[in-house]
Amino acid sequence: MIVCKHSRTFPLKQLSKHCRNLRYFSSASPEEYDLVVIGGGSGGLACAKAASQLEKRVAVLDFVTPSPQGSSWGLGGTCVNVGCIPKKLMHQASLLGEAIHDSKAYGWRVPDHPHNDWETLSTAVQNHVKSLNWGHRVQLKDKKVEYINGLGSFEDPHTVRVRDKAGKEKLLRTKNTVIAVGVRPHIPSQIPGAMEHSITSDDLFWMKKSPGKTLLIGASYIALETGGFLNGLGFDTTIMVRSRPLKQFDQQMGGLVADSMEAKGTRFLKNCVPVSIEKDAGGGLKVTYKNLTDRQTQEGVFDTVMFATGRHAVTKNLNLEAVGVKVDPNTNKVIGGHEGDNERSSAPNIYAIGDILHGRLELTPVAIKAGQLLAERLFGGSRVQMDYDLVPTTVFTPLEYGVVGISEEEAISRHGADKIEVYHAFYTPLEFAIPQKNAKQCYIKGVCFGDKILGLHLIGPNAGEVIQGFAVALRCGATWSGLTGSVGIHPTTAEEVVKLHITKRSGLDPNVTGC
Ligand code: FAD
Ligand code: NDP
Repeated sequence: MIVCKHSRTFPLKQLSKHCRNLRYFSSASPEEYDLVVIGGGSGGLACAKAASQLEKRVAVLDFVTPSPQGSSWGLGGTCVNVGCIPKKLMHQASLLGEAIHDSKAYGWRVPDHPHNDWETLSTAVQNHVKSLNWGHRVQLKDKKVEYINGLGSFEDPHTVRVRDKAGKEKLLRTKNTVIAVGVRPHIPSQIPGAMEHSITSDDLFWMKKSPGKTLLIGASYIALETGGFLNGLGFDTTIMVRSRPLKQFDQQMGGLVADSMEAKGTRFLKNCVPVSIEKDAGGGLKVTYKNLTDRQTQEGVFDTVMFATGRHAVTKNLNLEAVGVKVDPNTNKVIGGHEGDNERSSAPNIYAIGDILHGRLELTPVAIKAGQLLAERLFGGSRVQMDYDLVPTTVFTPLEYGVVGISEEEAISRHGADKIEVYHAFYTPLEFAIPQKNAKQCYIKGVCFGDKILGLHLIGPNAGEVIQGFAVALRCGATWSGLTGSVGIHPTTAEEVVKLHITKRSGLDPNVTGC
């Protein structure tokens, strides 16, 4: 006998066709869980743990559909397995290479040509990631969140169907559901050979063999960060740019980041798009690409081709139509904002957080904060909404780019050029002096509307660490006079921010000199 979602019992053979795979249905009570979270990534885990801390019965489902190239990983979602964590560790490996090089000028005796061993690096990174997978499992157990390694979809607004790896299914009854399924990288299938011969960031960090000579297609966060660390690790690296590097950021800053990478040896194919990819006689990947300026096609041969052309929502298999959850027709992401709640979908007891929420930033701390606040609203009596404004971010290129607030272009389009004051400075980090490193792209920009700071942009070493503090200040209402009236810490990069005084409008030389 088996119990259906309407709490009626049937002999197994009488189950309807769509229930054929159903082997088990948990039926202890009509509302078995207070919360089921579909997706055990940054947002889903944070939300599930916060709800459980509020004494609620919570289950979190996580299932990794292998990439087309067969890569798969454990609990924790994109950030832990194929995102922030392995990326930042490889960024660090690349910075260490640069530091070894610089150390000679500081008196260290090191080999002339130190080289990185990919197998050692990737094994170390993977082992760390596996330890985090384990840590997440332990935390869920400690916090009494039920973890189910299965693919979730909706049966009805209060029932979630879970299918495990072996195809075994069960149904969970729940009062509330949070969709936190994230997004996945996308390979444009219309490009002949792309699906067969290329990889994405989902594969790179799990590659056993070194990537060798690499082409990255795309010019946003992922392409530039990956290009930066691969070049720093000693690989011949090329980035194919369709329009502009870091198009969604301040244009001047995006251009400077690309220039800094070019100066370190990364090649850029500008205004180009891929046409086809095929294996050549020597086993390399022959990429034919078109230059959008002169319409000419050219070819290049690479060992690895990685698409970083955006990440897409995979909401189709969630059966959202059945429960009335509306998605944006272009992004397929869940539309939130219903009933005055940022994360509430068009179905009353179904919410969405993190990358899958339409129109919001795809960043780990955003997913985590939104998940925690949602749990507190659902179960803790809180009314605090997630504030998606003034979210800081950093592009972890070799010279990092940290930013909080809006670009110069956006500020001008909102308020008019005559109302916007841009303070800026090119500076040389002290540590660059002895090895005589190129500091041409170390640049800071403050975009102001009167005394209000609309945007703060910094390119330089450790920009992520520096910008975090300024982002807190901005949230607490810091003004331009307050910021520049502050005393710096000498000698640091961060002090250059509080020393900003030259406006673009003045036309004065923005190169900082002296102490
Ligand atoms: P995810 O972390 O993607 O988790 C979703 C989980 O749900 C996944 O495990 C998925 O397999 C699972 N799932 C999907 N469908 C189902 C289903 N039907 N049933 C069960 N489980 C399902 N952000 C930063 O802030 N800083 C960075 O430095 C940074 N670097 C990045 C580098 C790269 C290469 C990438 C790709 C991303 C990076 N990000 C970074 C973005 C960050 O990883 C994401 O914003 C974050 O992981 C989003 O969290 P999430 O909870 O929305 O989704
Ligand atoms: P984005 O969507 O930000 O950028 C896609 C890039 O691919 C653009 O440069 C775009 O060019 C290009 N592109 C798209 N389609 C094609 C095509 N058919 N041919 C050639 N080029 C194409 O994607 P990412 O994958 O880089 O990043 C996804 C998100 O992940 C980011 O928005 C970010 O939120 C998050 N992330 C955060 C990080 C961090 O915090 N440090 C690091 C990495 C990711 P065009 O500009 O011309 O449209």
